[in-house]
Amino acid sequence: MTAHIPIYPGTLGRLRFDNRFVRELPADPLLENTRRQVRGACYSLVSPTKVPAPVLVISSPEAAALLDLSEEDCSSPAFLEVFAGNRIMSGMQPFAMCYGGHQFGSWAGQLGDGRAINLAEVVNSRGERWVLQLKGAGPTPYSRTADGLAVMRSSVREFLCSEAMFHLGIPTTRALSLIATGDAVERDMFYDGHPKDEPGAIVCRLSPSFIRFGNFEIFASRGETRLLQQLVDYTIRTDFPQFGGHGPEVFCPWFAEVCRRTAELMVHWMRVGFVHGVMNTDNMSILGLTIDYGPYGWLENFDPGWTPNTTDASGRRYCFGNQPHIAQWNLLQLANALYPIIGADGPLQDALRQYGQIFQQGWQAMIAEKLGFAAFEAGVDDELVSELFAMLQALEMDMTIFFRNLSGFESGPWEEIPSFLMDACYSPPSAESRSRLMAWLVRYGERLRRNALPDRRERMNRTNPKYVLRNYLAQLAIDKAEQGDYSQIRELLEVLRRPYDEQPEAERYAGRRPDWARSRAGCSMLSCSS
Ligand code: AMP
Ligand code: MG
Repeated sequence: MTAHIPIYPGTLGRLRFDNRFVRELPADPLLENTRRQVRGACYSLVSPTKVPAPVLVISSPEAAALLDLSEEDCSSPAFLEVFAGNRIMSGMQPFAMCYGGHQFGSWAGQLGDGRAINLAEVVNSRGERWVLQLKGAGPTPYSRTADGLAVMRSSVREFLCSEAMFHLGIPTTRALSLIATGDAVERDMFYDGHPKDEPGAIVCRLSPSFIRFGNFEIFASRGETRLLQQLVDYTIRTDFPQFGGHGPEVFCPWFAEVCRRTAELMVHWMRVGFVHGVMNTDNMSILGLTIDYGPYGWLENFDPGWTPNTTDASGRRYCFGNQPHIAQWNLLQLANALYPIIGADGPLQDALRQYGQIFQQGWQAMIAEKLGFAAFEAGVDDELVSELFAMLQALEMDMTIFFRNLSGFESGPWEEIPSFLMDACYSPPSAESRSRLMAWLVRYGERLRRNALPDRRERMNRTNPKYVLRNYLAQLAIDKAEQGDYSQIRELLEVLRRPYDEQPEAERYAGRRPDWARSRAGCSMLSCSS
């Protein structure tokens, strides 16, 4: 049992807890931390496992501010103990949630927080609710055959990408802290029978809610309709108060809002070249946030068929170009789960159709802005854009560099491909590719003359980031972290805090992926083992 200690220095001691999820929803009556099917409950009470030698690797000042915590608060010994899971503050009520999910297109039954433990809900000075969740804090009733732990490599990736996404302006769960536990955790990274010990770590995530599509699906799959209704009511009341109440008349507008948020999220991912890698329904946030950073990746050479996840390599279900479609498929599973309490499928189908329209409009507006056009001109721009994508792929051009540098476009004539675009090429273009790109640039110049954004350069630079968490950059930071050197993680976070700024001193983080990283594990392909 973890000790409850009441007194903490600084703001940590003044955190205001209001554990609404635990208070308002039914708990698993069993208190033993044994793996099992949990029925008739939304969660199980469970304490984090103590760790031997916690060390704070990094904390995020912006995430800490959400809890009214300063950097000083985050570097205190009390903070370390609490966010390593070694001490439970009075007022905390740790629990793991019950959820299910469709994994790779098939129903997988009960999954649940297998290695995530929610410590408490904090209400900050602005009245915002933030759930504190430790990832990698030990087994729960939902751990199935796994250990409930997380390794440094995956925790660095979760921490950095959560905060990078936030600074890019993309809805996401947040990362407060990353703590090395001092434990060794065994992982068979390539599932090839060669397990090795890796350093353990715990990330504290923050979100207004960690509820996933799968939280609803599990109750529908079990015919637990009353529980399903309770969870929907709770979610609307807590996280969608704009619907002014609960009950069947708000269910459909609420589902439509979930569809809208999910569509907007997909537009963002497509804007920056983010590939989640495991878009199972248990990894879909009901708030439309990016959640569960596992084998994700960032497009380097533009390729809609690219998936970072080795488990997905054969089917490419979760590849870059498929994400908007998969999100809609996931929303359909959510609609199926909600059907028993709605009883009519017309409004659900309407909302799913609207998802398609909202995504398409959002995508067109987004691509117009990326290209510096005042608006997307359907019928004119479709061809220009599809030729661009075909060309980026054929010429192996880096998506981030291409779009960022395109803001520097000046009308020709050019003898050669402008050097700022050559910077995006992974291999020297053939003569044919050169003339193709030049022809496109001529058309692009004409299109800009007709109807460009008034402040084109600035607008493009605010939608086309210069700095993203390139796969190899994360890996370099991990290599050092595994040796106990956390400096690279801190340096990367500094750069990623201002992804749209030029930051001349950080230029080396903006370049193309080096050749050695093309096929190195962790840099181009990632496994789910984490
Ligand atoms: P993921 O695909 O990583 O989001 O995980 C799918 C399910 O597996 C979730 O229920 C996770 O909580 C669970 N899970 C993943 N890794 C572990 C682990 N090391 N220990 C226990 N459960 C895990
Ligand atoms: Mg998950």
